[in-house]
Amino acid sequence: MSDLNAESTAFRAALDAVRAVEPRIADAIAKELHDQRESLKLIASENYASPAVLLAMGNWLSDKYAEGTIGRRFYAGCQNVDTVESVAVEHAKALFGAEYAYVQPHSGIDANLVAYWAILADRVEVPYLKKFEKRQVNDLSDAEWAELRAAFGNQRMLGMSLDAGGHLTHGFRPNISGKMFDQRSYGVDAATGQIDYAALRETAKEFKPAVIVGGYSAYPRKVNFATMREIADEVGATFMVDMAHFAGLVAGKVFTGDFNPIAHAHIVTTTTHKSLRGPRGGAVFAGPELADQVDRGCPMVLGGPLAHVMAAKAIAFAEARRPEFADYAQRIVANSQALAEGLKQRGATLVSGGTDNHLVLIDVDKYGLTGRQAEQALLDSGIVTNRNAIPADPNGAWYTSGIRIGTPALTTRGLGVAEMDQIAELMHTVLGQTKAGASKAKFDLDPAVSDGVSKAANELLGGFPLYPSVDLGA
Ligand SMILES: *Cc1c(COP(=O)(O)O)cnc(C)c1O
Repeated sequence: MSDLNAESTAFRAALDAVRAVEPRIADAIAKELHDQRESLKLIASENYASPAVLLAMGNWLSDKYAEGTIGRRFYAGCQNVDTVESVAVEHAKALFGAEYAYVQPHSGIDANLVAYWAILADRVEVPYLKKFEKRQVNDLSDAEWAELRAAFGNQRMLGMSLDAGGHLTHGFRPNISGKMFDQRSYGVDAATGQIDYAALRETAKEFKPAVIVGGYSAYPRKVNFATMREIADEVGATFMVDMAHFAGLVAGKVFTGDFNPIAHAHIVTTTTHKSLRGPRGGAVFAGPELADQVDRGCPMVLGGPLAHVMAAKAIAFAEARRPEFADYAQRIVANSQALAEGLKQRGATLVSGGTDNHLVLIDVDKYGLTGRQAEQALLDSGIVTNRNAIPADPNGAWYTSGIRIGTPALTTRGLGVAEMDQIAELMHTVLGQTKAGASKAKFDLDPAVSDGVSKAANELLGGFPLYPSVDLGA
């Protein structure tokens, strides 16, 4: 044991402590590492956080209540949480070149809710209802709220349509954002598969939204945020960008100039666990105009911040400020483009014809498959992806006609463009050999093919150990 490195020692000791209380949990944690090591993960929203990020979360910071903001807490004894949150904010601001950062949101959805609330609180002019004159929306009673809801009713949001790659939180009915706002969507041009900014401008002029949301979960191209800001200014909208998926590409300076959301949006939200490679969580960035409203995220939307996760965010932001992270971000895109190229050369059809970012969307209808069939056939062959709607999807949001793949995770593992070409070959083999079955979920795939691809995928991964510094023992 004496020559075991610090990370292996730390994780082994943690598992021993957990195992002493509930061995099934220790086993599940250990098995998750094993399973992740074995799987060829092409899920565009996932990544592998560093051991330092993971270890920063497993401690007594979790015991502390610290509702409020740095230096203004509703609880006593928050000096260490203040330090943790201040350092996280300092790194976040420096990393993104933002004037203000709020690192308390527990997730991407929480960050969006905090942002939407801040935008509404900033925009809704209460004085036009005489009795609310000079009142602050955050200080109203329940009864006053009921009156106000009517006045809030006509706030509008313009976001990307779901089938073009938008997110549920961008004003869609099943999510609270779709209940707070009347939503209309902008989509992509049918021929190019890319955002049609002229059409977006027309829709904005006609609809007059309070909020225009940029950002996506499944759009494979750069977005011109400078143009979107111009459109927002023309119609008097607040421009918000949800960079949950591509924050790592912003941090790594792949998206600069017109494509850098921080430079153009009034407010920007993110997750910290996708391409940014931090702990599971969220953050909000804004200029000074909205900062005070965002600071009211707790108690308006959030309860006590997760101090242990804020500690891990600080580590992740600090890691992302290193030159290696910019190199990582470049490699994510190089890998994504190599994967796209490899698929196209073998005859696959890609939505928009390629990629500028970390993700690729394959139109599997061209293989005669639904997304559901393709997803399972690939999984049976050791390749983890997810099905996703494509623009004007003939199979709807459940079965879909797309497979979304992304490179942040495998790039962290060290795979490069040569391996991407091999993965394209494996995927094309599976998709080409799978035959649609009697229903939109059923299919036929020769087990010899899926076994062969599984083996090849495993061999490929063998050269790129995951968490090489972590040895949990037998
Ligand atoms: C993933 C994602 C979210 C939600 O993040 P959670 O942490 O899962 O709540 C929000 N917006 C976009 C665009 C996303 O891709």
